[in-house]
This record gives sequence, C-alpha cells and structure tokens, in this order.
Amino acid sequence: MDKRNIIIIGSGPAGLTAAIYAARASLAPLLFAGVEFGGQLMTTTEIENFPGFPEGIQGPDLMMNMVKQAERFGTEIRFENVTAVDFGEMQNFKVYVGDTEYTAKSVIVATGARPRLLDLPSEHRLWGKGVTSCATCDGPFYRGKVVAVIGGGDSAMEEATFLTRFASKVYLIHRRDEFRASKIMVQKVKANAKIEIILHAEVLEILGEPKVSGVKLLNKQIQTESTLNLDGVFMAIGHIPVTNYLVNKAGQPQLEILPSGYIHTRDQIYASVEGVFVAGDVQDSHFRQAITAAGTGAMTALEAEKWLVENS
Ligand code: NAP
Repeated sequence: MDKRNIIIIGSGPAGLTAAIYAARASLAPLLFAGVEFGGQLMTTTEIENFPGFPEGIQGPDLMMNMVKQAERFGTEIRFENVTAVDFGEMQNFKVYVGDTEYTAKSVIVATGARPRLLDLPSEHRLWGKGVTSCATCDGPFYRGKVVAVIGGGDSAMEEATFLTRFASKVYLIHRRDEFRASKIMVQKVKANAKIEIILHAEVLEILGEPKVSGVKLLNKQIQTESTLNLDGVFMAIGHIPVTNYLVNKAGQPQLEILPSGYIHTRDQIYASVEGVFVAGDVQDSHFRQAITAAGTGAMTALEAEKWLVENS
C-alpha cells in the first residue's frame, strides 16, 4: 500500500490552506473533504472580513476558490468521511474510510465544529420542518413569517439581524440577561424594530406537528411557562468540535481531547501524538474565524513539512 506524506482530514479554511501549503511543498497531500465539503462557510453568505476581498465574497465561492487552489498544486481530494484512525505507530498513521485503509507519515486534523443543539426530542422531530441552525440557508423561506433565534452570542445577533430581511418579526430568546455577543452587534439588534428580545428564557419544547408552530418557554426568573407562536426556530447556541472519528477500530481515543470537546494542542497546532497536527476550529474555542483557521492550517503544513524532513 502506498504511504502518503500527509493526510489532511477536513475541508474548511484550515484543511484547504494546509493542503495548499503542503501541495506547494511537493508533498502531494491526500485530503478527506467529507461528504459535505467546505465546512461552516458553505452555509454563510457574505464574508466581509477575509482579507483580499474588499467587496466581500460569498462563503461557498471562497471555499470553491480554495479547493481549486489546493488542486492546482497537486492535492488529491476525496469527498468521503473518515470513520476511524490509528495513530499507534509513528510515521505509519492509519486513516480509515469504512474498511478502506490509508497510511501516512503525518496527519493534519482540521474537521472544525458543528452547531450545538438543545437536544430536545421535539427539536430532532422538527429538524428541517421549521427548526434549523442556518439562517443564511433557510432565511428566505420565512418571508413575512414569525421566527425565533435561540442564543446570546455573536451568531445569534448576526442571524437575528439577517432574518429581519425576510421575517415580519424575529424573537431573540436568551437564557440569561447578559449577552456573550459583542456590544456593537447587540446594539444593532436592539436598534432593529423587527426584533424583540426575550431574556431569562429556557426553551422547554418546540411545538408543532408536522411543522413548527411555536415554542414552550420557561421564564427562569419567575418560574412561569408560556407559549410563543412561531413559524421557525433558528438554533444559534454555539458549536461542538467534530472529533468523533478520532478513535481506532476498537473505539479507543487516538488523541487527547479536552473536557470542553476541543482537541488538546501545544502551541495551537501540535497534537498529543508526534507527527499529528491540528488546525482550525477543532482546536480553537476562542477565535473561530475563517482567517485564524486558515492561519493555523498554514502553520500545520509548514511544521509537518519540517517534521517530515527531520524524521525521514
Ligand atoms: P457562543 O459565543 O459560544 O455563544 C453561544 C450562546 O448560546 C451563548 O449566549 C450561550 O448562552 C447560548 N447557549 C449555549 N448553550 C445553550 C443551551 N443549551 N441553551 C440555551 N442557550 C445556550 O457561540 P457563537 O455565537 O456561535 O459564536 C462563536 C464564536 O464565533 C465567537 O467567538 C463569536 O465572537 C464568533 N462569531 C463572530 C461573528 C462576527 O464577528 N461576525 C459572527 C458569529 C460568530 P450563555 O451566554 O448563557 O452561555
């Protein structure tokens, strides 16, 4: 079986930037993009803070550009999900897609994070039937309708503001009375006449059959329940790093994971196993920006290249 220099797992800005750097260093990387490639930017519309695009760029366009750039220098991309890994033997790391085994001298893990959910049975039952986590994807379906955004971070503010383009009314439902979001984004929400903020509110249940008709809320301050009629519910309560495949075939963890779910790293990019590097949101609970993910992607490829030279 041919052994690769580098296998990259993940196809967001981190994985694809790592691929561009590794490919330009003639390391012929193999990148597993997942069945749904491109990461969170695929469900984003306008990106205004990625340098080099003074007029902004659409998320999917940016990702397609990165794919083309990675392929141009010789990255092999497979649109498959990695299901297990085995990092037990140095320089002979195994990556599995089902029963198919790939081997590499080094691995870059860059699988990002997925939206956090409340994990209510009703949320799962009504997923895609009025419950979603992507305002930019689904917002246009709610023209003239009443929706709620759940959360108090920047994502919640951004989504609530965005949804006012379509919805007749947007409730922003948050469990506390303080926001994690930046002041400027909270101000924007407060200044928007279409948005009504509901604080101290826990979502007990999402109501409706066969589609969303409302939510049952608990006011945690005065312990009273109420029902709010809605057409759609947008979850914006954070993200969970994608690490479930980082186990061997016997289910044993192959990298050190922090209690928060993020991969433990030294100096942002070195995993607990030598020769394995980590980039992007799967290790970054703080910045979580496309540009910082791309930055750590470049760092991992440069360090992997150096490590391969030193260890060959
Ligand atoms: P976040 O900052 O972690 O905020 C998550 C929000 O969801 C918090 O308000 C949290 O409430 C709430 N929450 C978490 N679990 C909950 C639960 N089980 N039930 C109810 N509420 C729950 O996540 P984010 O908003 O996705 O932002 C992530 C990062 O991306 C941040 O660093 C943010 O600055 C950045 N970001 C930036 C922009 C921008 O600059 N344009 C846009 C989007 C995101 P508590 O506050 O009570 O914990």
